[in-house]
Amino acid sequence: MSEKTQRLEIVTPQRVAYKEDARFVVVPGVEGELGFLPDHAPLVSALKVGVLRVQKDGNTTSVALHGGFVEVRDSRVTVLANAAERSDEIDMSRAEEAKKRAEERLAAKSEDVDTQRAEAALRRALTRLKVSG
Ligand code: ATP
Repeated sequence: MSEKTQRLEIVTPQRVAYKEDARFVVVPGVEGELGFLPDHAPLVSALKVGVLRVQKDGNTTSVALHGGFVEVRDSRVTVLANAAERSDEIDMSRAEEAKKRAEERLAAKSEDVDTQRAEAALRRALTRLKVSG
């Protein structure tokens, strides 16, 4: 018998980044990782920048997720994200450049640098490198 699945949809302002059936979905909640199996109780949570993992038929796929919200109900996991990329969509050299820029800004310790913005850019770049690597 095939395993029971749920529908996962990741939507960004630009596109539907992911739309597949999944057995198990793990998202980066603001207070820690949240894992969902089919028939999970209804839930809404804010998400931070991090890795979303999808399991199906023993395979795991990772998606770089850049903040947003998740809603779970009726065996549907809907993620609204600022941006999301599967590993094959990530431009590693662009992420390396973004990481370098952010690290240089943070190392400069200048008053002109928006530290929170640089830290957020660094988190996005590191998440992309983790998923693509
Ligand atoms: P950069 O400084 O390189 O633009 P960023 O973290 O500021 O990176 P975002 O604002 O998070 O970029 O994303 C803007 C758009 O570019 C989104 O659609 C996102 O999916 C895409 N994007 C950003 N970096 C990459 C990357 N390394 N590979 C593929 N797509 C990327």
